[in-house]
Amino acid sequence: MTFTADQLHDLERLIEEEHRRFSRALAEGVGTEHAARQLRALDAARVRIADGTFGRCRACGRDIELDRLIAHPAAVRCLACQEGIDRRAADPEP
Ligand SMILES: [Zn+2]
Repeated sequence: MTFTADQLHDLERLIEEEHRRFSRALAEGVGTEHAARQLRALDAARVRIADGTFGRCRACGRDIELDRLIAHPAAVRCLACQEGIDRRAADPEP
């Protein structure tokens, strides 16, 4: 995905904010498992920003919607692919 410098800067800031929030939760012992998972996801997002693959869907290779990244900066799949996974998880095939 090609972001403008401003968009990328905003997304990096969101990642840092989320990272601080979950680090604090982890330090305070709140939802530690979830917080630890989120921190790993955010670290991975930082790596993707550094290597230029941030914002690309892991499943289909298309761009992840900017709105979605703003809501979930650590997202690795576009909305369509994530919904497919959520549907399968909610209604597992035999
Ligand atoms: Zn996708």
